[in-house]
Amino acid sequence: MNKTSKGTILIVEDEEALQATLRLSLSLEGYEVSVASDGVAALRRVREEYFDLIILDIMLPELDGISVCETIRLTDTSLPILMLSARSGGSDRVLGLKKGADDYLTKPFHLEELLLRVDKLIRKNRKLQEHPPMDDVCAFGGNRIDFNAQEAVNARGERIELSQRETMLLRLLVAHRNEVVSREKILQSVWGYQVYPTTRTIDNFILNFRKYFEADSRDPKYFHSVRGVGYRFTDEQAA
Ligand code: CA
Repeated sequence: MNKTSKGTILIVEDEEALQATLRLSLSLEGYEVSVASDGVAALRRVREEYFDLIILDIMLPELDGISVCETIRLTDTSLPILMLSARSGGSDRVLGLKKGADDYLTKPFHLEELLLRVDKLIRKNRKLQEHPPMDDVCAFGGNRIDFNAQEAVNARGERIELSQRETMLLRLLVAHRNEVVSREKILQSVWGYQVYPTTRTIDNFILNFRKYFEADSRDPKYFHSVRGVGYRFTDEQAA
């Protein structure tokens, strides 16, 4: 994402005219816009790229918008989703919000209203990412991480100096304890896309965390890799 961009948006809409209108309007507003015309393509894009927001039509070929939303929410609970529907009935709205959409617009809508909602959703999410609610210290299984001091003492009593990125990644995983944090989110939050680390890079960080904090690094209790999805920190209360 370049510095002048207000954010990246994926438009998932099969009606060509509306897709083109949205693409043009959002581009003119300063967003970087990508498009997908069916539900399967949408999920593929979301797996491969980072987006600040998704505009998701419900009636789609291949896979409907409700299912797309539900699938995204299995691995990503924070990506803002604005749903669109042609139907004016309340049931789609309720179902969409139940399945994890953040906001909902019924077609036809005023472009101005869509732009306002897009702006609001992206700002709200950025604020949450910048100031996630969290503690300064995390204790688990005899380990104690002090995020501000960037150091930890493990269950064997060894003092560990953490690098800045190690601290950031630990903070992120702990803030989302017992949830899978996707690779895309880690890249965006910890590396900020300044350099492109491979999955291997994140794996190496996780391997180090296991060496620091696990009794048996080959049988981890706290730091888990979820193949093809991301990583999860599990604390003992929930394990
Ligand atoms: Ca449609």
